[in-house]
Amino acid sequence: MSWRSLDLTLMRNPEVLSLDYVPIDLPHRETEMRQLERVFSILKKGANLVAPKVYVTGDIGAGKTVLAKRFGMNFEEELREIGVKACHIYVNCRLEGTPLNVLTAMIRQLRSEQFPLRGFSIEEAVDAFIRCLAEIDVCVIAVMDELDHIVRKYGSYLLYVLTRIQEKNSSAGRRLALVFIVRNISILQTLDASTLSTAMSPVVKLRRYTASEICDIIGTRAEMAFRENAVSPEAISLISNIAGTYGDARYAIELLTRAGIFADFEQVDAVEPEHVRQASSILPYSASSEDILFLNKHQRLLLLAIARALQSCNDAYLSIVDIESAYRVVCEEMAVKPRGHTQLWKYLRELSDLGLISRQVSYGGRKGKVTVIGLAIPALALRSKLESLGAMGSR
Ligand code: ADP
Ligand code: MG
Repeated sequence: MSWRSLDLTLMRNPEVLSLDYVPIDLPHRETEMRQLERVFSILKKGANLVAPKVYVTGDIGAGKTVLAKRFGMNFEEELREIGVKACHIYVNCRLEGTPLNVLTAMIRQLRSEQFPLRGFSIEEAVDAFIRCLAEIDVCVIAVMDELDHIVRKYGSYLLYVLTRIQEKNSSAGRRLALVFIVRNISILQTLDASTLSTAMSPVVKLRRYTASEICDIIGTRAEMAFRENAVSPEAISLISNIAGTYGDARYAIELLTRAGIFADFEQVDAVEPEHVRQASSILPYSASSEDILFLNKHQRLLLLAIARALQSCNDAYLSIVDIESAYRVVCEEMAVKPRGHTQLWKYLRELSDLGLISRQVSYGGRKGKVTVIGLAIPALALRSKLESLGAMGSR
């Protein structure tokens, strides 16, 4: 083991490992990038038609966000080069939370001045957005990420509005090109007929990555992020094999980052397979790990309480009473004031909407009908994920 000073870590550009980083090249997504370009090429002709819309779908870590962001950046540039004024904007519907917040976030990106967040009704925000599009003489490529969260929670209104803008204002409609990102295209089946009639558009489907594709992706990322030869080829290969089982590039990058931190901690010269094994043991794969990152503190505490209680009782389901008492124990342990019964019900409904827990109505017993709660993902994986998030986050 060699000694290194603390500031000389194995990573030379750690920011490259951030999940928001958008590389210039996206290996193994060339075909999909061309499909997007083909759908949007109509904008280059300056045709007086309604701007195109497209859906990008695929599982977590299939590269939906990074593909859409890179496409927005590149296409804006291409349009400018041929003299078409263009800009691209990006909103994450889950982070914005409500249709109103999504619209205000879009308006704010289009207008440089501050746009008031409060005091607008949804209808006023829609009008303001359309006015904004009509006024700016620019072709807008808007990426709407994680749209399924809004549709699941608030129905089709936002999609309805965005896909029918040309009916209200034709110049606004000609300027708004949309990339909708949804995890599963079946969400469209929940739409009402009138929304569906205008919301249907081409779908670019991203399949899961194979282990060798993940190897290319993280090999390049490791070269950029780490010092030369600081990640052994065996470590890259092990990460690719583990993450390849799920086809998830995000998990691969998380494992690489975590393994790098372990190797740094040990002050060794390179990331080796053992660091990857340590990383994968504290960071087991969970398809819902992305959802967990966005939960607020009490939702996480509640989920942790459910996972612990289910593990200790070995039952498939818990009653609300059991969950509440397990939650209070977790709160006490973390020195956090527990939330009341009504708020917990709301959180349970949200966790169930996200598919993290399942709610069942159970018949029988003295009380007749009762709701019981089970976990949709393995309790052990969930616990280690939540516990590895440290102090349960501050959100
Ligand atoms: P999704 O939105 O489908 O869940 P992301 O776009 O967030 O997936 O991708 C997960 C991670 O993997 C990100 O860090 C992203 O930069 C990286 N990634 C995905 N596909 C590629 C690719 N083809 N080339 C380089 N990096 C990629
Ligand atoms: Mg994404």
